[in-house]
Amino acid sequence: MQYRSTRGQITETLNSPQAVIQGLAPDGGLFVPVNFPQVDLPLPNLATMSYQAIAELVLGWFFDDLSKDQLHQIVQGAYGSQWDDATIAPLSKEHAGNYYLELFHGPTLAFKDIALQVLPRLMQKALTIEKNSNEIIILTATSGDTGTASMRGFSDQDGTRVIVFYPHGGVSPVQLRQMLGQRGDNLTAIAIEGNFDDAQTAVKTIFNDQSFNDQLLANGFQFSSANSMNIGRLIPQIVYYLSAYGQLVRRGDIKLGNEVNFTVPTGNFGDILAGYYAKKLGLPINRLICASDENNVLTDFFNTGHYDRQRPFFLTNSPAMDILVSSNLERLLFDIYDESAPSINQLMEQLKNDGKYSINAGARAKLHTHFNAGFATQQEVQREIKRIYQQDGYVIDPHTAVASFGANEYYSANNDPTPNVIISTASPYKFPETVYQAITDKQSPVTGLYAITELCQLLKQPLSPNVQQLFEQSQKNEQVIQPDQMKPTIRQILQL
Ligand SMILES: *Cc1c(COP(=O)(O)O)cnc(C)c1O
Repeated sequence: MQYRSTRGQITETLNSPQAVIQGLAPDGGLFVPVNFPQVDLPLPNLATMSYQAIAELVLGWFFDDLSKDQLHQIVQGAYGSQWDDATIAPLSKEHAGNYYLELFHGPTLAFKDIALQVLPRLMQKALTIEKNSNEIIILTATSGDTGTASMRGFSDQDGTRVIVFYPHGGVSPVQLRQMLGQRGDNLTAIAIEGNFDDAQTAVKTIFNDQSFNDQLLANGFQFSSANSMNIGRLIPQIVYYLSAYGQLVRRGDIKLGNEVNFTVPTGNFGDILAGYYAKKLGLPINRLICASDENNVLTDFFNTGHYDRQRPFFLTNSPAMDILVSSNLERLLFDIYDESAPSINQLMEQLKNDGKYSINAGARAKLHTHFNAGFATQQEVQREIKRIYQQDGYVIDPHTAVASFGANEYYSANNDPTPNVIISTASPYKFPETVYQAITDKQSPVTGLYAITELCQLLKQPLSPNVQQLFEQSQKNEQVIQPDQMKPTIRQILQL
């Protein structure tokens, strides 16, 4: 397997270890397979395969420079006892007509753990294969969950260091507590005055700053990314689509070969893109429903073919989706533009210079064969949490509620008998204030850990071990800087 940039400004191809280590292509593009794997998806076996077995299979297709033994070690380490549920990604029974694929049983209570328990282990093998002895600096912009999950994944991992930038005031109290409570000498989290897009843009600029990169290399450092722009993070996310399908077949909820829909709460477009890749690999998926919050740039894009980031930015009760520039959309565009790097380069230049672009009619038609899109307001999120809770006591987090609402809208508007799986991306205890308010119609008098305790008393359900762990972490102080101080701050941390 070789990888190349979506923008084609660099012409050489990379093997998978190199692509994982680099994270982002030097021309600003994202790494994609030169030849998308043509595989025999063992559909009948999915029902009986463990999550780990499916993971080894999928990782093997995309990272074929690693030996079977190396892949086995990665997967065993990534999906072990740090998970609250031995199935890793359990599928709920049907609630109000939908299945919920619970991806939040990992150590930081959100679906980012699925990939960020793999990436550090994958990167370590990649460094060994490449005989690369640089210290890898994982530079990450986060809207909350990526930061905690990368710090957790890379904690005390030799030869790596994590520097996380998050929007000041733009992450939830529990996320903040998780970030400031991480243990590991190689971890730093810093708030910036700005929103997630400011952080992400600045991180991309630093990544592409050639002289800074040269200076780092001269000192034995090298940047990499743990954002879903890194192919090493994207590929592990394909696994849970296959696992969900297997679970539906195993339980007799669908017949082998039947199609399913997935509704995905979307921000940076990594999660839903993995679903699209699963479909390309042969999983019987009918529709992928892209659900956004009030930052509904993707809803407009799918409905009109125009992407326009010039719009007000909202801080909502689903902070991990408060994004106006969805990086991984570039990989989808690359695919629907028949892998034409010059076209993608042009669109991304327009996005950079004018803040918008439009896709052509052919590309739009292709999108419509796979995707639908919708969005939910914060009030609709609250109502959806309450509706699902009242039906049969099932509790969902605000991000999952965005998708749940979007699925409902889709099924009201379309006569589609296909069963639907909602990707459930966070534990309700990660956003206890919003969930409490939704269920009781009154504002939680407390925040953070106190709000978890209060929600727990309200729901009368025991806390999982990973939620309980939050109560045992002590916190560091918060450091806040301006975006233009990011580079000097990195210099300081690395003592350059
Ligand atoms: C990151 C995140 C999302 C959005 O996923 P993308 O891959 O960025 O689209 C949704 N919900 C939660 C809880 C998240 O942490």
